[in-house]
Amino acid sequence: MNIERSIPNFADPLLHARGLYIGGQWEAGGGIPVFDPSTGRTLAEVPDANVSDAMRAVEAAEKAAAGWRATSARQRAEILRRWFELMTRHAEELAHLISLENGKALPDARGEVAYAAEFFRWYSEEAARIPGEHRHTPSGSHNILVDHEPIGISLLITPWNFPAAMATRKIGPALAAGCTVILKPASETPLTAYAMARLGEEAGVPAGVVNVITTTNPGAVTSAMLADHRVRKLSFTGSTGVGRILLAEAAKSVVSCSMELGGNAPFIVFDDADLDAVLDGAMVAKMRNAGEACTAANRFYVQSGIHDAFVAGLTERMAALKVGPGTDPGTQCGPMITKKAVEKIDRLVSEAVSRGARVHTGGAPLPGSGFYYPPTVLDNVPVDASMASEEIFGPVAPVYRFETEDEAVRLANDTEYGLAAYIYSRDLKHAMRVGKRIETGMLGINRGLMSDPAAPFGGVKQSGLGREGGVTGILEFMEAKYYAVEF
Ligand code: NAP
Repeated sequence: MNIERSIPNFADPLLHARGLYIGGQWEAGGGIPVFDPSTGRTLAEVPDANVSDAMRAVEAAEKAAAGWRATSARQRAEILRRWFELMTRHAEELAHLISLENGKALPDARGEVAYAAEFFRWYSEEAARIPGEHRHTPSGSHNILVDHEPIGISLLITPWNFPAAMATRKIGPALAAGCTVILKPASETPLTAYAMARLGEEAGVPAGVVNVITTTNPGAVTSAMLADHRVRKLSFTGSTGVGRILLAEAAKSVVSCSMELGGNAPFIVFDDADLDAVLDGAMVAKMRNAGEACTAANRFYVQSGIHDAFVAGLTERMAALKVGPGTDPGTQCGPMITKKAVEKIDRLVSEAVSRGARVHTGGAPLPGSGFYYPPTVLDNVPVDASMASEEIFGPVAPVYRFETEDEAVRLANDTEYGLAAYIYSRDLKHAMRVGKRIETGMLGINRGLMSDPAAPFGGVKQSGLGREGGVTGILEFMEAKYYAVEF
């Protein structure tokens, strides 16, 4: 199958890019097959960069760095704004591309494109608002001026679950700050990254400011780049395991790190919650991207009085979802990214069931080609089941019953992660009080969706370091410089 034929309205050559993109040049090649998760068949091939390709990307980013740093904030803002507009103009084609290589249902893919493009719009606005500071020393001896300078060449590594948004969430602030970048997208979903780089070129991003490479050898390639003293920043989104490896690598050259890692979000429902609102929120928190999201509700803790009604309502909604290829009209739950992902979900569900969990809908992989796992609801899940501590990363909702607030808080915090959490209660004061006790970077109160370019996204504990988005996201790509001034 070739990719042009699989997207009927994919007429724009801008979106066919798929070579290494180094110093403004496209370098064709192969070596990495990209699969369609709905069939398991190969969609396309992208080049497999080696260490010397990666070092050429560093060289290109270095060559472009001084010029980009010297542009005015307004110039950078206008390029980002044009990139936002191009993404918006090509939203439908980009959504199809994401849906094809990632598998997510088209409504999810459309939502991702809109969300991803917003990072360019937000950071086009923030580029002109980089803060500085003036203070007097307490002793009166001198003045303190604080300026923020671009941190330097930034290596951006992104996962497959949001192939557009995880890239723009990094490229937007990096470019707004005045940094040049090398993007290494996940091997499963490189086509979206290359298509977006082509749109960036069209938007006027100068050669070498954004470079994109794909590789089957991310460890060696990344280590080589991090060992080069011109690379000053590593911004990574992915699993906690890989994040730990990269932190250790970055430590060797004392490279600044932002880490957006795994999650294990609790979704806490108190007896007094509005059941319809809870179910609406639960469906979004669980089923956005078919559960393949770091913010996905991974554990539903539901108070006794509302437990049975919640399980019945959730089961009805989950069972009604249409499962199928992401690009098929009407699909609400697409395939998982790989066979391995389905096997992991199957392992977690089987273990829980063998220990007494009850299956209300779903519960086993779907037969046939493609990597499908159906929407699944379980209750009576043991609180120490593996799925309570591992990311399920699929359309499985395990429900656990609780009696008291203290019990809910203890269970919610009983994890190494701390990325996202959700609380539902009609009593806002109560919800806020419980929220203060939850160890998390982000909290949805009576809301199942929290991602927003204007908000600081990130986690505590093993979920990461630093924040992306919001007014502070740009500072992750800047260094504060203090001037002691006598005047
Ligand atoms: P992953 O396996 O950690 O991979 C993420 C990226 O790291 C990919 O580009 C991957 O490249 C690369 N990589 C893998 N091993 C590497 C190494 N030794 N050195 C350098 N790079 C390496 O994660 P994933 O499976 O793609 O994504 C799912 C994970 O991401 C989940 O844990 C999820 O919670 C997390 N996530 C977190 C956030 C957040 O904002 N906190 C957002 C989305 C996802 P290859 O593809 O070539 O292996």
